Amino acid sequence: MRYEGRIFRPPSEADALILQATVGCSWNHCTYCDMYRDKTFRVRPLDEVLVDLESAAPLAAEVTKVFVADGDALVMPMDHWRPILERCRALFPNLRRVSCYAMARNVRDKTTDELTELRELGLTTLYMGPESGDDVTLKKIAKGDTFAGHVEAADKARAAGMKLSVIALLGIAPDRSQEHAQATARLVTEMDPAFFAALTVTVVPGTPLATLQTRGAFEVPPVPALLRELRTMVNEARPTDALFRTNHASNYLPLGGRLPHDRARIVQTIDAALSGAIPLRPEWARGL
Ligand code: SF4
Repeated sequence: MRYEGRIFRPPSEADALILQATVGCSWNHCTYCDMYRDKTFRVRPLDEVLVDLESAAPLAAEVTKVFVADGDALVMPMDHWRPILERCRALFPNLRRVSCYAMARNVRDKTTDELTELRELGLTTLYMGPESGDDVTLKKIAKGDTFAGHVEAADKARAAGMKLSVIALLGIAPDRSQEHAQATARLVTEMDPAFFAALTVTVVPGTPLATLQTRGAFEVPPVPALLRELRTMVNEARPTDALFRTNHASNYLPLGGRLPHDRARIVQTIDAALSGAIPLRPEWARGL
């Protein structure tokens, strides 16, 4: 398996075979993100990608998940997706799912029939990171999309039978902390994902966000404000049945459960953290 540059994947894909079918992110503008800034986006030649897949054949029985990288791999055209997914199925007898990161626009740019075909071929899970449901915030962070655009994409993906994992970003809107949290809760309700995760913003050197911080125009909110954002999101989001996690290393309070089933327990835990009754993850143990 050949990889170009740094490779990222969601925590829940730690045990997946990572196939780099695209390099970089076709958008690459989000102010807080440095994941693919050093890469110019391109779709890798199909024959190269298929050779990479074949190289995993000796471990074929162990492969249960494939994560297709990089940053918004759903953008790849159907004439690349079809043979990749077909080869995955042919090679890996125990394959349970294929997943990738997707921007809302990537989903909207495919027809429902195409998304359904991808799901039938095995691409069953999309990781989408709107980060916020607040349109003012989405514009500020250059997400390149809106609340409505994310809802339209989610409706389309779910209509095709795909599962969504939605990611929100605590602390990304210090001057609109609660507006951000409330709108994000509404967005989670509307997108109705199977998985919902919250991460905490980290200012990465070299990003536009770092420049804003240097100019005094951005500061990560204090920890209690971050916890209050989390509390609002958990308390106000109404997904049908979502597995909820804050186990990402960036977070101060690792939590898990199902929403709405475990809402009261999770909110109680956040309140206990806010009152100092339970310890937070120490700064040295946090990561990107
Ligand atoms: S879409 Fe994702 S990978 Fe691309 S710049 Fe934004 S956060 Fe980074």
